[in-house]
Amino acid sequence: MAKISINVKEGTLNTFKKPKNIIVGIDLGTTNSLVAYIEESTGEAVAITDATGSSKLVPSIIHFGKQTIVGNKAKSYLLEQPENTIYSVKRLMGKSYNDIEAKTAYFNYKIIDDNSESLVKIKVGKQFFTPIELSAHILRALKQRAEEALQQPVTKAVITVPAYFNDSQRQATRDAGKLAGLEVLRIVNEPTAASLAYGLGIGAASEKLIAVYDLGGGTFDISILQIENGVFEVLATNGDTFLGGDDVDQAIVDYWLEKNNLAAEEVKNDQSLNQSLRLKAETAKIALSDAPNFSDAIGQIDCSIDRASFEQLIQPLVQRTLKSCQQALTDAELTAADIEEVVLVGGSTRIPLVQKSVEAFFGRKAHKQLDPDQVVALGAAVQADILAGNNKDFLLLDVTPLSLGIETMGGLMDVIIPRNSTLPVKAARQYTTQVDGQANMKIAVYQGERDLVKDNRKLGEFHLKGIPAMPANLPKVQISFIIDADGITRVKAQELRSGVAQSIEVTPQYGLTEAEMGKMLLDSIQFAEQDRSARALQEAIVEAEQIVATTEKFISQNQTHLSKTEITQTQALINTLKATLTNQSSDKDLIHQHIEQLNEYTRPFAERIMDVAIAKAMKGKKV
Ligand code: ADP
Ligand code: MG
Repeated sequence: MAKISINVKEGTLNTFKKPKNIIVGIDLGTTNSLVAYIEESTGEAVAITDATGSSKLVPSIIHFGKQTIVGNKAKSYLLEQPENTIYSVKRLMGKSYNDIEAKTAYFNYKIIDDNSESLVKIKVGKQFFTPIELSAHILRALKQRAEEALQQPVTKAVITVPAYFNDSQRQATRDAGKLAGLEVLRIVNEPTAASLAYGLGIGAASEKLIAVYDLGGGTFDISILQIENGVFEVLATNGDTFLGGDDVDQAIVDYWLEKNNLAAEEVKNDQSLNQSLRLKAETAKIALSDAPNFSDAIGQIDCSIDRASFEQLIQPLVQRTLKSCQQALTDAELTAADIEEVVLVGGSTRIPLVQKSVEAFFGRKAHKQLDPDQVVALGAAVQADILAGNNKDFLLLDVTPLSLGIETMGGLMDVIIPRNSTLPVKAARQYTTQVDGQANMKIAVYQGERDLVKDNRKLGEFHLKGIPAMPANLPKVQISFIIDADGITRVKAQELRSGVAQSIEVTPQYGLTEAEMGKMLLDSIQFAEQDRSARALQEAIVEAEQIVATTEKFISQNQTHLSKTEITQTQALINTLKATLTNQSSDKDLIHQHIEQLNEYTRPFAERIMDVAIAKAMKGKKV
């Protein structure tokens, strides 16, 4: 479908075809975020500007006021309302309070110190937010920006993360996308995306070694990649999560203070002067990337600096980054001379001294033709285009959006295929019967992330019938899940000793909207702790029931070897344990305590009877 738009100011006509199936690429940065796509007519990656057409970067800042605002408009509140204005959430993704405790001074907003094991939460006014929800605000703003520019709904995205992000940080990023109403088709490493933006690795048959040097606002990363047949492998990463453009700005501020004979302490207490100085320093730094001098003033304070002094000032910072580069090379068992391509990423690599130093270190020219603060988003768009099927040389792989599993004793969810498994996928687990001679087994299939099946979504159930009579715990029932490339799931149950089998087919995504899926994920995060204790309680109950059953069986089979007191006392302990199970106010610890008491009491005579049995067996008699 072709569309025509008229630019009212210039009177020009723009015709553009409505592009099909656009998947955007998103750089969710610590300081700035961007969204990009592949322009259909040119095949070029383009970062999308705001409505005014000016800025492609969206500062990763969220302000909670009467309305929630994201980006440039939120930036001005950093100083006025620091407690309501959130920055650098990326540093908190997938982290617990323990992980960031030493760095809390860096954040001007309130991070909750509750259970240091669980994921951090941020308090704004009376509300609590997870970093996932906060990142979702940024992603929503980017989605909206893309929808306005492309004049069509945008629901699919590729999002980049640092190469060193662990599984929980990647998962958090995916969840943020989902919450923002985006289907995250792939999480891509930032250095990989940057390489793709330069066409490195596309159609490259031979093997190639690449160094990606990324100096952003607050972080520095060096990654050594190897590409072979279009597949990227991260050989080593290094860097400093607290080194970037912000430190350069601070160095300039310190320089000015000294030059003006001002005490740093005094200025620090004057928040507004401090902020003005920092903003001026950033302006000076950016100017010095093109001009040899910068000169300005704030009131009586002379804010001038020339490039030579600037370079002298930041030399130590640059040296620190090169030390990291050396470390990464050493870890990859390589030398600088082995590297065949060097890619510069991050706004701070616009600084000429940085470019010169990196090129000297690796002994070759670096790729810097593209805007260094856009290059990751552009590469994400290239990856998105591959996933959209516009580049047929690459295979499209899909993933399961929610976990799949079955109900086990006590109403617990037992996950067999975790979410985000790449399709097609196959997995199996073995179970057994609870009672002697059990002939039937019910298999209930669920989808979701909660610990109790009642909070998840039931997809179907079936019965495995005709299990031959065997004592409890002897049958081996294998439950297997097979999901094909279209998401159709086959669940099969088979008793391995006899071969009896039964199966069903379910379609997990049928009737489930994106919003519902988002809610399921959010609930699993919100109720994580509650779920954990519910699971622990259920597990204790199941354990207690099993111990009661085996002890009762043991007593009735060994009447003759036991004294009267042993029998009555054991029965009494069993009754107490049973009573705690039916008592609503019991917790897992109380149940464990009674299990322990029962075990303590029965252990000596159980051992005595075992000894008798063993002695008999040794004589060749049947027990
Ligand atoms: P991040 O990846 O951390 O989100 P960016 O890659 O967007 O960050 O880099 C932001 C940093 O780049 C800021 O510190 C900014 O001041 C700096 N920067 C932007 N343009 C220039 C320039 N022309 N010269 C020097 N530094 C710059
Ligand atoms: Mg970045």
